[in-house]
Formats: sequence, C-alpha cells, structure tokens
Amino acid sequence: MTNTPPPIRQDADQEQFLTILSREDALARFQAALFPRPVPTEERVLADALGLALAEDVAAPVDVPPFDRSNVDGFAVRAADLAAASETRPIRLVLNAEAIACGIVPQLPVLPGTATAIATGGPLPRGADAIVMVEHTQPADAGAIEVRRGVSPGQFISNAGSDMARGEVVLRAGTVIGSREIGMLAACGIARVTVARKLRVAILSTGDELVQPGEPLRPAGIYDANGPIIRAAVIENGGEAHFLGAMPDDEGVLERAMREALAAHDVLILSGGTSKGAGDVSHRILGRLGKPGIIAHGVALKPGKPLCLAVCDGKPVIILPGFPTSAMFTFHDMVVPVLRRVAGLPPRIDAQVAARLPFRVPSELGRTEFVMVSLVQGQDGLAAYPTGKGSGAITSFTQADGFIRIEALADHMPAGAEVPVTLFTPQVRVPDLVVIGSHCTGLDLVVGELSRSGISVRSLAVGSLGGLAAVKRGECDLAPIHLFDPNTHTYNAPFLSDGLELVPGWRRMQGLVFRRGDERFEGRSAEEAVRAALADPECMMVNRNQGSGTRILIDQLLGSDRPDGYWNQPRSHSAVAAAVAQMRADWGITIAPVAGAAGLGFIPLTEEHYDFALVSARKDRPAVQAFLAALQSADIQAALERAGFSRAV
Ligand code: AMP
Ligand code: MG
Repeated sequence: MTNTPPPIRQDADQEQFLTILSREDALARFQAALFPRPVPTEERVLADALGLALAEDVAAPVDVPPFDRSNVDGFAVRAADLAAASETRPIRLVLNAEAIACGIVPQLPVLPGTATAIATGGPLPRGADAIVMVEHTQPADAGAIEVRRGVSPGQFISNAGSDMARGEVVLRAGTVIGSREIGMLAACGIARVTVARKLRVAILSTGDELVQPGEPLRPAGIYDANGPIIRAAVIENGGEAHFLGAMPDDEGVLERAMREALAAHDVLILSGGTSKGAGDVSHRILGRLGKPGIIAHGVALKPGKPLCLAVCDGKPVIILPGFPTSAMFTFHDMVVPVLRRVAGLPPRIDAQVAARLPFRVPSELGRTEFVMVSLVQGQDGLAAYPTGKGSGAITSFTQADGFIRIEALADHMPAGAEVPVTLFTPQVRVPDLVVIGSHCTGLDLVVGELSRSGISVRSLAVGSLGGLAAVKRGECDLAPIHLFDPNTHTYNAPFLSDGLELVPGWRRMQGLVFRRGDERFEGRSAEEAVRAALADPECMMVNRNQGSGTRILIDQLLGSDRPDGYWNQPRSHSAVAAAVAQMRADWGITIAPVAGAAGLGFIPLTEEHYDFALVSARKDRPAVQAFLAALQSADIQAALERAGFSRAV
C-alpha cells in the first residue's frame, strides 16, 4: 500500500499536469495562494452591523460609566460620619437641599454631618464617598435622617470607567457583532463601526440538463439543486450571494459568464463540469482567467473527488462537483474555512458527539471519506446510521444529523466502533419515535399525522432486513417490514424473535405495470400479459433487485425465461414505474399506488403485507401509543385507502 496518489490522466488539451492531492495538501496550497491578504472592510452604522465581524479592535472613547454613580436609591454620605452607627445609637445627618435624580448634576457638596438624597444612577456629589440604602435610614426631624448602620467607603458606588475605561480595548477584530456587542458599543457612544464587508460571491450552475425549480421538467432534465444550495450556504456563512443562473456546457458562453461574474465579485463558485468528460469545460476556462490559475483539481475526498480550486488574480474561484451532496460536502469542508478567512470571519465551530456504528461501514482506501449519519438512541448511547444513498442523493445530506470521517488509510469502520459525529446543528435532537425499516408512501401518511400533533418522528429507510436487525438491537420502536416466507407462505410473522410483536399495517397490491394502450397487456390477466411479453422479442422488461419480495414474485412468473431487460434490477417500486413511463422498459412489477401516481396501466397480481415489528417493551411509550392510535384512526385508514392501500384483515 502506498500513500502517493496516482496522477490523473492528462487530456490532450489540458495545460497543467494535475494530480490528486490529499485533502490537507489541497487546503494548504489553496490557503498559501490566497493569504496573507487584507480583509475587505466597510463602515456601517451600528444598527446595520448585526452579524458582521469587526474589522478592527474597538477601544472605548469614553469612561463607562462616565461619572461615579449610585447603584441604589438612598443617600450620598461620608462613610467616616457613620463609623459608630448602630441600632441602639443611630447617627443623625442633616439633608442637603437637593435631590439627585438621573441626569441631574449635583450643586451642593456633602459636608461632614450631611447627606444628599440620590436615586439609582444619580451622579455622586462632591465630598460623598458612599451611599446608604434608603431601607437603612429613617426620617428624623424636619430636614434630617437617622442612620442605624455603618457603611464602608465606596459602598453602592460604581466608579467612572469601572465598566469600560477610556482607551481600553473592549472588542477585538474578528468578533461577530451580536446584540451584546451592539449594547457595549452603544454604551460607549459608538455609532459607526468598521466591519469586514460581506464577500460578494457569484454563483453559477453549469450543465445543459439543468432546469430551474418552478419550470416544467423536460425529458432528461434535472432540477438545479446546487444553485439554491450554494446560495443559501454562502449566506449561512456570512456572505452576500448572487446566483447568476445555470449556464450551458458551452465553452464560449461559460467563459463570458465567468469573466463577467469574476469582474463584479470577490469570489466565484461554480458547480458541475469538473470531471474530464467531453462536455466538461469549466476547469479548462480557469487557466485563462488569471494567475496562478488552478491550485488543485482532484482531491482525495469522498464525496467530492472532482473538486477544483483556483485563484485568478487574487480571487478564489471554486468549481464544486456536480452531484449536490458532493457539492455541499466539499463546500462545507474545503470552501467555508477559506471563505470565512478571506472575509475576516472567525472559523466555524461544529459540535461533536460520540456514537456507535450499527454495522460495518466500508470505505475507499486512499480517500478521506465523509459518511453522513442519522442519530438514534440505542440501548447504550447513540447509534449513528449512515444515511448514504451515494453522492448523487440529496437526502443523504438533508436527513442526516451530522457526519463521521473515515481516514484515507482505513478501508472500513467495524460494526460497533465508537466514532465522533460532527453535528450539523448545535445539539442532537432525539426524536420521540424511531421507525427503521422498509419505506412506504403509506407510512408518510401515518407519520405526518404524528408530526401534526407535535410528536417528532425519525424514519430511516434501510429495507425490511435492516429494520429487523435494528429493532432487535433496540435502536428503534418499530420496524416496517414486508418479508415473504416461502416455507410457510406467510408474511412477516415468521421473522419475529422474542420481545417483538407484529402490528398489522396495510396491504399493497402488487401487479404488472405497462403504458396504457399497450395491446400486449391491456385487458389481459397477469399470466396472459406475461405470456404475451415473452412471445414478443421486442418487449423489454424491468426487474427488481435480488432479495426483494417483488423479485420472488417476478421469478415465479418468469420460470426459466430471461427476457431482455432482466438484468436491469432497480431497488425501488418507483424506479420500475419510471422505467416503464419513460419507455426504457415496457413492463415490470410494482405496487398499485406507485403505478397510479405514474399514470400507468396496472394488472393486479397478489397482495403484499406491510406490517410493523414492535418492541413489546416499548409499547407503553406515549409516542408508540400515538402511532398505534393514528394507524387505527378512521381518518388515516381512509387516507390509506385513497392512496391505494387496503386494510389488513
Ligand atoms: P458533472 O460534473 O457536470 O458531470 O455533473 C455530475 C452530476 O451532477 C450529473 O448527474 C449532473 O446532472 C449533476 N449536476 C450537475 N450540476 C447540478 C446542479 N446544479 N443541480 C443538480 N444536479 C447537478
Ligand atoms: Mg455537467
């Protein structure tokens, strides 16, 4: 095993020799090319400085408080006058002919044997060196008081400059201005501050396939997720984001857009087009935009290998990978630290917690791998479930609580390993109810009902067998499963072990899907339809993955036949419907609600049982009770039926 990364294949028109750098090396080179540099600054009125970082140290221009001041309502006195005062021998002081309220400048000195009435916040008169609280005095004859206890010099007085002294540095450069800092600055009379100006960040998406959210999706189109994600993440990190739209994979058009964006902004962030594919042009343009150009192209990171970091005439230019999860990860891991430093902001501090891995997590040797995890409460502390559906899946990021890091030299993390989890939010949120297993759109109806009544639910889709393992380890309350036992010809019950009980869920009609109007299938029974399909060599099927209940059904229908499309084995009901709807296949087996939602024809075959394995010991928990009640409620049953599910009998 070697630590030296292999060189990237060199394209004919590539100007530089590029190698894959380690994460640390890439960051170090990027920083070396950018720093030192002055932080861009601007002056702002205090009211508009919230959330910005101070660009300079701030010294108090005046003393705070500006004068010696009373902290209580009472009388300004000379402490020496009251040295002998006691309950039995009160001392009489003659009142001066003024009362000092806030904002009143004292006119008369406090001479020996006298006192001046003073309010909280009133300036101390000449001669006085302490305050007696009004509660410790009594009116005596006209114009005098009696004091029954002594005071020490300085008592109940705040001296001038005791809070902030004139010239004292009260806030340091880099401090982010919050309400407390605003208070400090206002208290010493500062109306304007020099702050680190927000970085003006231009954002461009690239790709001929991109469609902006809100527009209709065309065939082979993909909604532009990176544009909105990066815009939001820039703002979250104190920048000023300008999303300039999605550009086609056209070198000329893109180069013009990049030049214009760079001229008007401090930073340019693109996404997509960083691979060495034929249509990937953005990295080629970088070499022409300014010196020194590309610093790193290819970083030993997973996700995020195609990341490209450049500096063009002093400005950072970053091309994030196209897959949204890779783009998000590389942005947070590699770009945020640099952007914040360029902007004069303090580093982001992420909270960490320890958790255990429920199963072995494989990792690619030679790349620092980040695995997003969802946290659930296990029997002995937190368990960290990898949420990954691969770097193309946006949900692996949004459903995660944080991530773990697997070092480049490790090829896996063993089951049960304790790992530090870096959190996306300051605290772990432990949900009221945890459901781990097979996903179903019907489950969303039940969970939605609980959420509306204020119960937080975490639902992780790991398949029936994964759910069963989790429920046996005590990591969830309920595991939704649909497992067919070929020996007993029953669903689910044979798979339960001690301590688990079966809660009936609902039935999902499995059947053959086809495009309406296809005469090979329309109006036929399932057996006839399959026979017609097998008789037509042009007819293409879509299968399901080994281990799924649906696959057992398909293999029964096909016997020993292996028609065209058999090796296309997607992992979900939705993928089967999409393949048929988009004419990549002519038929497949899926469940009725999914077929209906895709507008496809459907020939019913058999009902699949979707039930819940419940940990008996957890049955009395309020959230579990609420789940069971919701499941049985007439509203939910009706909603399930409307969605195409039928009642378990
Ligand atoms: P690329 O690096 O341009 O080849 O893109 C890699 C993958 O990311 C492709 O599947 C693209 O469709 C996808 N992709 C690129 N940009 C975006 C974007 N802005 N939003 C969502 N997906 C994207
Ligand atoms: Mg692209």
